[in-house]
Amino acid sequence: MAAPTQTRQIALASRPQGWPTDENFRLETVDLPELGDGEILVHNTVMSVDPYMRGRMNDVKSYIPPFQIDAPLDGGAVGEVIASKSSEIAVGQRVVHGLGWREYAVLPAERASVIDAEAAPESSYLSVLGMPGLTAYVGLTRIAEMKEGDVVFVSGAAGAVGSLVGQIAKALGASRVIGSAGSQEKVDRLLELGFDAAFNYKDGPVRDSLKAAAPDGIDVYFDNVGGDHLEAAISRLNTFGRVAMCGAIAQYNATEATPAPRNLALAIGKCLTLRGFVVGQYADVSPEYRERAAGWLADGTIRFDETVRDGLENAPQAFIDLLAGANTGKMLVRL
Ligand code: NDP
Repeated sequence: MAAPTQTRQIALASRPQGWPTDENFRLETVDLPELGDGEILVHNTVMSVDPYMRGRMNDVKSYIPPFQIDAPLDGGAVGEVIASKSSEIAVGQRVVHGLGWREYAVLPAERASVIDAEAAPESSYLSVLGMPGLTAYVGLTRIAEMKEGDVVFVSGAAGAVGSLVGQIAKALGASRVIGSAGSQEKVDRLLELGFDAAFNYKDGPVRDSLKAAAPDGIDVYFDNVGGDHLEAAISRLNTFGRVAMCGAIAQYNATEATPAPRNLALAIGKCLTLRGFVVGQYADVSPEYRERAAGWLADGTIRFDETVRDGLENAPQAFIDLLAGANTGKMLVRL
């Protein structure tokens, strides 16, 4: 079969103001560049939509450059190499790389990693064996410095990162793991996954629900949400408690400055540590995590869910739905 000369891709048509809408995205067909020395052509089969992409749609300076209007979006993807001018990666190999939001991608071989699609489903390299899994592990072990016996609370608990945080915390010896999520179905799923307690944050003030779920306080808070969740956790943290500040999804679509936790000064008397992190800074932890995760998956210690949408044209809606909580586990788009 002749290699394709064009690809469909999703470009950013305009910057969202508040919640993204269909109009912010454009499906287009473009010519693929000629394959240069050291480059590969990948037929993408699965791509990731992630909350951090919302931040990149704003024109602000951050740890990662913003998306450009009229340029294609990018992000994690897995695919099969269908042409190669690289001595490192051959036609037929499966790779994970950063040029999602398109059906075919041309990239330097060194920006792709070969995966073993026999050992684990290829989508797992975008979820449990990929960035979300590493985020959960780094946040617990390197940022919150979780210890055996800790009581751990995680928000966004039914999502890609959160569901793994809870299960990994149990595997690392947490005495009690509590999760919050946005529906009763998600709460039920968390209990099935081994969480000791879970609540629907839409049922009442987070502060009250957390108090009921953690009568003796918490030692670690893994924050995916910010806002009222962070404030409630600060109230509930024990002396020398630790917060891994991973995300603040409650404010990603905010059009005005959001209030800081009103009780932040409690951190002084309780000797709390609140520490942010970006997983990309911890790539060196990846081999350690991969090895442990493979063991946990093999013996059933951790399980993971995926919510899969079909077709590149549905990727923008998958992304919008992710922000609204339509996913359980990792939100993915099959291409
Ligand atoms: P998820 O799979 O958790 O999807 C996002 C979830 O957020 C939704 O399913 C929804 O679930 C929940 N949510 C949306 N709005 C709110 C709200 N207002 N209050 C509470 N929950 C809300 O995404 P990820 O696992 O990929 O990411 C989780 C968090 O981790 C995000 O904040 C993300 O930005 C961050 N992150 C940070 C990284 C880092 O390096 N620091 C790396 C990867 C992710 P629900 O139905 O429960 O509301």
